[in-house]
Amino acid sequence: MTQLDLLIIGAGPAGLSAAEAAANEGLSYLVIEKGTIANTIRQYPIGRTMFSTPNEVEMHVGTLKHVREKPSREELLSHYIHFVLDHDLNINTDEKVTDVAGGIDAGFRVVTDKSEYRAARVLFAIGAMERPKKLRIPGEELSKVHHLFMDPYPYVRKDALVVGGGNSAAEAALFLSEEGARTTMAIWREDWENRDPKAGAMKHWVRTPLEKEVAAGRLRVVLYKHIDEIRERTVTLTTESGDQETIPNDVTFVLVGSDADLTLLKRLGVEFETGKAGEIPVYNPETFETNVRGIYVAGHFTHARHIKEAIDVPRRIVPLIARELRADVHEAESLADVPQ
Ligand SMILES: Cc1cc2nc3c(=O)[nH]c(=O)nc-3n(C[C@H](O)[C@H](O)[C@H](O)COP(=O)(O)OP(=O)(O)OC[C@H]3O[C@@H](n4cnc5c(N)ncnc54)[C@H](O)[C@@H]3O)c2cc1C
Repeated sequence: MTQLDLLIIGAGPAGLSAAEAAANEGLSYLVIEKGTIANTIRQYPIGRTMFSTPNEVEMHVGTLKHVREKPSREELLSHYIHFVLDHDLNINTDEKVTDVAGGIDAGFRVVTDKSEYRAARVLFAIGAMERPKKLRIPGEELSKVHHLFMDPYPYVRKDALVVGGGNSAAEAALFLSEEGARTTMAIWREDWENRDPKAGAMKHWVRTPLEKEVAAGRLRVVLYKHIDEIRERTVTLTTESGDQETIPNDVTFVLVGSDADLTLLKRLGVEFETGKAGEIPVYNPETFETNVRGIYVAGHFTHARHIKEAIDVPRRIVPLIARELRADVHEAESLADVPQ
């Protein structure tokens, strides 16, 4: 069984940053990623422009190549992939961590769907995309219902419904409408009228073209109360005035947010608190170590949610982990030197 100083779960910006920091510290480390390098970014809509500026998402100043002011999905994805290749980081992709057990004294045992590892410390950089929120209504299990939007082109001249009030839903509705899908966006009034960026309002550079699509009659916005049922060819919803409406439908995107999968952390005994974005692990704000000694967290499912923080935090905490591990070795060597 491979013995590591640090095992990192997830190869998003947080996991990649942690891997580089671990390599710089001379630690034996491995990143285990169930999908691909930067899997979450790969699943952004094709051709999407980032909300963030390059300095907020690049691994090192000036290394992200971009054509416009803000990078595209493809430019960012390529940046992260080349970061891994250029630094020859240790990453196993297509491998899912299914269990973490043990403790700081005897070390942790990390089980995946392919192998088993032992690690002195474990960093969870698992993101917050694992569990898309569901409407929990009849028909949501139909194959035409998606909880992720990547590509408008299969839906040209089709009847598309997007449900949701955040930026992901707004972008999906915009891209579908612009590319010739007959699009309806079902949104709650409070989300449609929200103009506060701190409260998750639609970014103005999404809203402005979206409103143009509405004005041109290509996109219909329905202020709704709830979606009642999805059928093969239709969707029935209740509008905010209480009227029930059945609309033609070929494809439905339910984009109402997602949660991290906290199962492994809970099994280990990590404590959680309720934050703005749902359940957040309790951790030391200096070290990002949880109440379970030796278990660390970083990235999207902590309070430091944005990509910039997902990159910065591991650079602060991995040197602390390395220092602690070196102190452990030093102590063990000193004890061995004591005459019996
Ligand atoms: C559509 C969209 C647009 C966004 N736009 C922006 C933006 O413009 N600017 C910005 O700052 N943020 C943006 N975000 C948020 C941004 O994507 C996250 O902040 C960022 O990805 C966080 O990085 P991370 O490393 O914490 O998590 P992630 O990038 O989500 O990486 C976590 C990784 O862990 C892997 N994983 C999870 N569980 C396991 C397991 N059990 N075993 C192995 N691997 C596992 C996942 O496959 C994933 O690759 C956007 C998010 C979405 C969905």
